[in-house]
Amino acid sequence: MIKLNVEKIKNTPGESIKADYDVQINELIDEGETINLSDNLKINLLAKNTGSEILVSGKIETALKMMCGRCLTETDCPIDIDFEEIFVHKSKAEYIDNSDDDIIFFEGNNIHLDQIVAKNIILNMPIRTFCDEECKGICPQCGINLNEEKCSCVQDNIDPRMEVLKKLLK
Ligand SMILES: [Zn+2]
Ligand SMILES: [Zn+2]
Repeated sequence: MIKLNVEKIKNTPGESIKADYDVQINELIDEGETINLSDNLKINLLAKNTGSEILVSGKIETALKMMCGRCLTETDCPIDIDFEEIFVHKSKAEYIDNSDDDIIFFEGNNIHLDQIVAKNIILNMPIRTFCDEECKGICPQCGINLNEEKCSCVQDNIDPRMEVLKKLLK
């Protein structure tokens, strides 16, 4: 759990605090989705009491353990994102327009950061990543990793219509 103690600022409009984190954490979970990290999770943030809310903004830096989109080997994907989230203390919930989904309520003196970090990473995660721009991928016929080995399969891109024809001729 990554927590931010806002006791000093939560009742003082205009007040702000800075916080830096550098934690070793292997995975983050958000709504059933697991994100595997291959580097420390670094967060630099500024929390500011704006009067009715606590605005938390900052930077998240880490690396994700992902699979290369071509050869399926594990590869690190660096992440460096800016985020901004609005927190409101539960006791003030009735004064807040609840239609705003972006508001996160908190109780006591601590804001929990795990979930917003996970959410922001998921939002900014690349759909595909490659171990190398030049990755040759795996052979669609024998499954060999073509970056490591060569196979003797015939690498031709057969038109699917030709494929049907080929079958008929057999
Ligand atoms: Zn690859
Ligand atoms: Zn092959």
